[in-house]
Amino acid sequence: MGGYSPAHSWFPGIAAAPDDVDVSEGIAAAKVGAGMTYTFAAWFAAWGRFLAWRWLSSFTCNALGGQMIKQFLTGVLALLLLLLAGCGSVPVTGRTQLQMVSEQQEIKMGLTSFREILGKEKLSADPVLNERVQRIGKRIAAATGRTDYQWEFKVIDNDKMLNAFCLPGGKVAVYTGLLPVAQDDAGLAAVIAHEVAHAIARHGGERLSQELLVAGLSVATVMATHDSPNRDLYVGLLGAGAAVGLLLPYSRLHESEADRMGMIYMAKAGYDPRAALALWQRMAVAAKGKSRPPEWLSTHPADETRIKEIERWLPEALSHYRPVGQ
Ligand SMILES: [Zn+2]
Repeated sequence: MGGYSPAHSWFPGIAAAPDDVDVSEGIAAAKVGAGMTYTFAAWFAAWGRFLAWRWLSSFTCNALGGQMIKQFLTGVLALLLLLLAGCGSVPVTGRTQLQMVSEQQEIKMGLTSFREILGKEKLSADPVLNERVQRIGKRIAAATGRTDYQWEFKVIDNDKMLNAFCLPGGKVAVYTGLLPVAQDDAGLAAVIAHEVAHAIARHGGERLSQELLVAGLSVATVMATHDSPNRDLYVGLLGAGAAVGLLLPYSRLHESEADRMGMIYMAKAGYDPRAALALWQRMAVAAKGKSRPPEWLSTHPADETRIKEIERWLPEALSHYRPVGQ
């Protein structure tokens, strides 16, 4: 979906592909609501820095002189303004994350996107399948402790899509194409728990915040290098750096984090977390040679890396595992 360039981490901010259709997890973002928020926040951040830069220019830069100082101060100021905008902490892992969008805003965007996606897709009318996904989903949802979310679990009738997603606020959808790979309830629980973890960890909001940061830094660089002969070079480097350095590692981080959190959630819900290991092994085989959906693009953890990490986290997840009925 369009929105706040959810070309996002896979095609980060600046190098965004506008028509990138990504319904995989996190934020599939609504064009209208999210776009406006993005524009407003970017504009607001840029304006704040502009005023502060003018002030600093007149008081400091003239006195101290020099383009270098001006650039340095603008950079520091841009970072401070953006970092002060908000930090959050991820449940389970405790990682500190940049959050410039409130969770309520994020949930609103999630809801709009969910309605948009469901409006375009064909929902499965299979009562048995719907009951199964809802039953598993509700158990995972309960394990997260987020009773404030308005959880919804839908099945999209599309056998070609090996995919599932959870949007902020607990809006989950599973494509029928994923079912043969998921195999049983535990496999399906592993998929849903992984997607749910992305939402609980607010990866969508974090991704948006990173994009705002890149947008803000771009403005700052352009301003700071306004009369520099190297301006084009700086701007070019910034774009390249953003594409390969700034956002991509976060994307891998998000995947790993969702794997780890998801295994704990599924274990707490009464599903054997060892099923996650088997699931991702099957997924690696199923995805081979196929055009991969966004969840498994090449920027994501290599299959072997992922499997190794899952093996390492298994004991932690198993310590939360209480099989149902015991
Ligand atoms: Zn994921």
